[in-house]
Amino acid sequence: MTPTHTDQTDRTDASALEVLERHAAHNYHPLPVVIAEAEGAWVTDVHGRRYLDALAGYSALNFGHGHPELIAAAEAQLRRVTLTSRAFHHDQFGPFCADLARLTRMDAVLPMNTGAEAVETAIKLARRWGYQVKGVAPDQATIIVADDNFHGRTTTIVGFSTDEEARAGFGPFGPGFRVVPAGEAHALEAAIDETTVAVLIEPIQGEAGIIVPPDGYLREVRRITREHDVLFMADEIQSGLGRTGTTFACDLEDVHPDVFVLGKALGGGVIPVSAIAARRELMDVFTPGSHGSTFGGNPLACAVGRAVIGLLETGEFQARSRELGARLDAGLRGLPGDHVREVRTIGLWAGVELVPGIRARTVCEHLMARGVLAKDTQTTTVRLAPPLVVTEAEVDLLVATLAAAIEDTVA
Ligand SMILES: *Cc1c(COP(=O)(O)O)cnc(C)c1O
Repeated sequence: MTPTHTDQTDRTDASALEVLERHAAHNYHPLPVVIAEAEGAWVTDVHGRRYLDALAGYSALNFGHGHPELIAAAEAQLRRVTLTSRAFHHDQFGPFCADLARLTRMDAVLPMNTGAEAVETAIKLARRWGYQVKGVAPDQATIIVADDNFHGRTTTIVGFSTDEEARAGFGPFGPGFRVVPAGEAHALEAAIDETTVAVLIEPIQGEAGIIVPPDGYLREVRRITREHDVLFMADEIQSGLGRTGTTFACDLEDVHPDVFVLGKALGGGVIPVSAIAARRELMDVFTPGSHGSTFGGNPLACAVGRAVIGLLETGEFQARSRELGARLDAGLRGLPGDHVREVRTIGLWAGVELVPGIRARTVCEHLMARGVLAKDTQTTTVRLAPPLVVTEAEVDLLVATLAAAIEDTVA
């Protein structure tokens, strides 16, 4: 049999992928696509095939690939100064902290690089505050977290994960965390005692499958933490910065936490930028020498971060997320009920829960073959998080392609 053009391409892809993986650690299982270029909501692979990006770097690309204002900010800063270390001041640092304080309605900002580092920073803040201000006995501080949480990959953080895959073989883990059922305010309140310094939650759980808590949950967490003199720390690394149709997911319930933990889209998909934001009296538990990072708050990161905040302050992206999110939700609700068990949508963020037996990974492979990139989370959930710059037609294309990919999978 003469191989068709498609067979030939597939074979080339297979060997090219083998080369790609040969010297790389195998800590991911990517879809077999090799991206060479991207613009807006679209990426192009090494063969020139175009795909609609419906993952947006797990929400790190909320403004799309190569947003002109973000690229311009990065290019301008590349020519000025990119790194000073924190041993010296630089002229982007103060303005970045001021801009992010304004966006978060806080007084003080501590920039880091990755999300996990920002979470670690929040944990350190809470513990020090607990000992110095709340008067918790030395080394006894506890932090309450939710089951099915995802806060990053450091040893401290995976130590309080409930995902065996994330933990297995990485112990021993440090003490000081209490896991309660997500979305249950009573359980959370019951877990608080005199050692509790903070509650650390994702207002909407991303990796768990876009799990939106019951109405009023965030307000309850705010009330409970205030009453018990416990810090409310919101990990908005994935849920924040426009994804949910508001600047922060906490805004959905008009809740203002004690600490915002931010990352992903804060760097505009250009450079890793993370930060925590808090009131001045909380942030002041950090003193010279007690915390830091060589690259945290570097000039390039601050310049891009300022441009990101500038985009968010127009309100345009939050509005797009709301309007197009409603369209996405309506579309997804039309998916065949015998294959889709539940659709959870908030802004331009959706978890499509398939019926048991349909693997989300297989659906994503069919999506890819049809020109849309998305990623499974958990076994039966397809996560959709297109850049907030997608058009109505692209949202419709996404829904239609997903319907076709589900049909391909069950066929
Ligand atoms: C991605 C993510 C993190 C970790 O961020 P990294 O930059 O990968 O370290 C933490 N919390 C949440 C909610 C996330 O989605």
